[in-house]
Parts: sequence; structure tokens; C-alpha cells
Amino acid sequence: MEVKIDKDLCIGCGICEGVNSEIFEINDDMKAVAHNENVNDSNISDVDEAISSCSVSAISKEE
Ligand code: SF4
Repeated sequence: MEVKIDKDLCIGCGICEGVNSEIFEINDDMKAVAHNENVNDSNISDVDEAISSCSVSAISKEE
């Protein structure tokens, strides 16, 4: 699975980072990046929570 951020949609609100700061990080350009290498069985539910929490639907995942 790969988590993706659409930087054109992201408004840098930080909600995803608040859900899990190991997976999501706000970069210097105030856009979120996804650290796919940090996704594991114990935190994968945070990806779905972040997807549903993002108000601009900038987060997606590919199985
Ligand atoms: S929750 Fe969505 S809009 Fe907010 S920083 Fe994360 S990806 Fe960007």
C-alpha cells in the first residue's frame, strides 16, 4: 500500500500530522508528505483516519 498526498489540494492544516506524526509531516513548503516507510500493521488505521479527517481530500492510498 502507498499513501499519497495531492499537494495541489493540501492546505497544510496539519490535521494528518496530528493523527500520526510518524506517517504524516508538514514540510517547509507547508504541504504534507507521507512517510510510507513508517506505515505498519499497528498504525495503518491512522491512514484511514487521516484520509477521512482531511477536509480537502488530499490524502489517498493505493493498495
Ligand atoms: S489533513 Fe489534508 S490538507 Fe491538512 S495537511 Fe494533511 S493532507 Fe494537507
